[in-house]
Amino acid sequence: MQTVQHSEQTLKTALISKNPALVSQYEKLDDGERRLLNKAFKPDSDLFGPITLHSESDWIISHPEAPQDFEEFFSDPSRKAPSPEKRSIYIQCIGSLGNTRIISEEYIKWLKGYCEAFFYGLTVKLLEPVPVSVTRCSFRVNDNTQNLQIHAGHILRFLKKKKPRDAFCIVGITMIDLYPRDSWNFVFGQASLTDGVGIFSFARYGSDFYSSHYEGKVNKLQIVSSSDYSIFDNYYIPEVTSILLLRSCKTLTHEIGHIFGLRHCQWLACLMQGSNHLEEADRRPLNLCPICLRKLQCAVGFNIIDRYQALVRWIDDESADSPGVRRERSREDHVTLPKPVEAFKEWKEWIIRCLAVVQK
Ligand SMILES: [Zn+2]
Ligand SMILES: [Zn+2]
Repeated sequence: MQTVQHSEQTLKTALISKNPALVSQYEKLDDGERRLLNKAFKPDSDLFGPITLHSESDWIISHPEAPQDFEEFFSDPSRKAPSPEKRSIYIQCIGSLGNTRIISEEYIKWLKGYCEAFFYGLTVKLLEPVPVSVTRCSFRVNDNTQNLQIHAGHILRFLKKKKPRDAFCIVGITMIDLYPRDSWNFVFGQASLTDGVGIFSFARYGSDFYSSHYEGKVNKLQIVSSSDYSIFDNYYIPEVTSILLLRSCKTLTHEIGHIFGLRHCQWLACLMQGSNHLEEADRRPLNLCPICLRKLQCAVGFNIIDRYQALVRWIDDESADSPGVRRERSREDHVTLPKPVEAFKEWKEWIIRCLAVVQK
């Protein structure tokens, strides 16, 4: 295993920059916020570590990109930032996220709450879920994995038309796998930064997608015509687990981060690291490194303490570890599903350590 090591000076410049205007902007931040952000270049920091490389197929090795420091982010002319009129992130669900209406509704509310805490200060709004047929997208059965896939570009076209006036961006989420073009096997997601739209699939994040007994396999002959979407009725949806929720939250915030103009991080272990495969996506943390955190703060304008506290509240709220809170009722409508946050526990402890640094 290798690590991507940068000198203290390199990290300090990536974070603060040498541009006097940006240095003075940095100096105006609150003492506690600077104390935390400065951990980026403190070698003894146990909060932010280097990026580790595990194989040749890892993102940085297979997709060389120019790194983006704070100054490059700040002065990128194509970057879009929320304005007072456009401060909402819209989430459009395509098809069901869970096996019952209740699971789907709860799942999307968990994602909404997570995004609201992560992009603290912006409003996250849910659009009424739509079935796949409404998008009029092309679809197919994947030759290798035999699962159903929908055309990512067609979904983006649908979302662009639906984008509300006050939207900073609109993101579609689905449990159906995506393909970008006929010659490609699949894609986890696709976005248009200029249009502020994105579509992301969590299909491959279920525990069984890569197993031999995956139940989402269908026969090609079951597709009668390109306009008959009935094959999506009751199509297989993976079970909602804590890992699936964590992977979904991670993907959603990484991808929305791109819409804010954050490019792949090459500085420290960070949510914004690129990932080429599921194992690498799992390895990348839920948190932003200080350099990416400063970029997001600059775009959104939050207070770091408020944002961390909101994330801790999201993990604590209606969590599954207090069984007494769980209400069992005979009617499906009144069942409260506990939010499966077990997988977020380690992250919560990390946030609390960061809060201790900011609030010292
Ligand atoms: Zn990315
Ligand atoms: Zn980063």
